[in-house]
Amino acid sequence: MSYDVIVVGAGPAGSIAAHDCAEAGLKTLLLEKFALPRDKPCGGAVMYRGLHLLRGNLPRHLIEQRIHGLRFVLPRSGDLDFRSDKMIAITVFRDRFDEYLARRAESAGAELRESSRVTRAFVEDDHAGVILSDSSAYNADFIVGADGVNTTVGTSLGLRPARKDLTRHGLGMESDFFVGRQGVIDAMHGDPTILELIPVKGKVSYGWIFPKKEHLAVGIAGAAVHMYPLKPMFDAFCKKVEKRTGQTLTLKKRRTYFLGADGVKRQNVSDRVILVGDAAGFVDPMMGEGIAYAMKSGEYAASTIVDALERGKHDREVLQSYQDQCVRDFRGNFQIAEWAGTRGTTFAEYILTKAAGYPMASEIMTMVARGEIGYSHIPATVISRLPKELPQLIRRFVQSKVSHPS
Ligand SMILES: Cc1cc2nc3c(=O)[nH]c(=O)nc-3n(C[C@H](O)[C@H](O)[C@H](O)COP(=O)(O)OP(=O)(O)OC[C@H]3O[C@@H](n4cnc5c(N)ncnc54)[C@H](O)[C@@H]3O)c2cc1C
Repeated sequence: MSYDVIVVGAGPAGSIAAHDCAEAGLKTLLLEKFALPRDKPCGGAVMYRGLHLLRGNLPRHLIEQRIHGLRFVLPRSGDLDFRSDKMIAITVFRDRFDEYLARRAESAGAELRESSRVTRAFVEDDHAGVILSDSSAYNADFIVGADGVNTTVGTSLGLRPARKDLTRHGLGMESDFFVGRQGVIDAMHGDPTILELIPVKGKVSYGWIFPKKEHLAVGIAGAAVHMYPLKPMFDAFCKKVEKRTGQTLTLKKRRTYFLGADGVKRQNVSDRVILVGDAAGFVDPMMGEGIAYAMKSGEYAASTIVDALERGKHDREVLQSYQDQCVRDFRGNFQIAEWAGTRGTTFAEYILTKAAGYPMASEIMTMVARGEIGYSHIPATVISRLPKELPQLIRRFVQSKVSHPS
């Protein structure tokens, strides 16, 4: 069987890529190793930056909670809130959200095959192809490797090593805990529209409490080398969350997974092949946020392939525009996140404490979450807004001098 495009993996990256290819009229096959809905270890916070690709069409019942702010729970300064009138994210259950995206691709015309595990990808002069665990084979002009952090497409074609660098890849453990609607409201101190981020003491990692309708998503993640022993670390974090929220967390299932890394530093294209999402490593190295980047890279991959087919070209040079687009769009954010992440909680606490209380700080957080600016545009945005903020800056400076005269 031959296709224009075979997309391997029906996570957010693959389903967006398959949807856009099918919508553009390409004969598209979307292969997923599990039957849908399938589980995916994840906090389930989808930043608006990714969400807006769905053009407001996400069914309401998939939205667990609309999110309007971030709360940093810091060792010395306590809780620092950054709120916005605008929505910055939603929380979802990944099994349902991902299934919706896969069925959306199917509705656009992609052929979706579930329970279809790819064991190898290959590239010949005049086509590319995949072999499945049942030995069936499919050919196409292009392969999109959207098969997550353990990418079979990437490793079998030599774009990624078989062994992960545990100093670069993240590792996380999480669970959803049922506490009921009132439990969620109480746990989030009356504001269930906020995501809580909590550094895990002594480690280069952080924990989270994300509100859903009737559940709390609780988890920890960090560079894999710092995440051992993972289970006791997670259980200790859950105890801390119980104390903080006053809720009893009854564990049903711990879920663990690696996070992608180094997406903009590595080659993500070769002849007839593009890697997207976690397979490419498009994950924020500080926050572990990857869904929006997965969706964006899926969109970029599809438009690159549509263009390449129109030009009748299949080589790495023509796909390089995908690589360049991802680097242009993601590198600024990833570089700054990595730089800030390696400076640890003391640095984060210093910056966040200085920023808290200024409307401008919440405004900038909102712009970043909504994809209106990247991290690297923050300094210029601050400078452009300074005249408006000046009266408050002077007021705070004077107040600090009055309360702490030198
Ligand atoms: C603990 C944890 C918490 C996280 N929390 C958040 C969060 O709150 N917000 C956020 O933005 N990001 C979060 N992330 C990151 C986020 O989950 C990923 O970045 C995102 O899922 C990447 O999407 P993807 O489509 O690239 O890959 P995936 O979602 O991993 O999808 C890959 C798909 O490919 C399929 N597949 C794999 N191998 C094969 C094969 N051989 N053949 C066929 N199919 C295959 C898989 O079954 C899967 O469906 C978290 C990650 C972890 C580990």
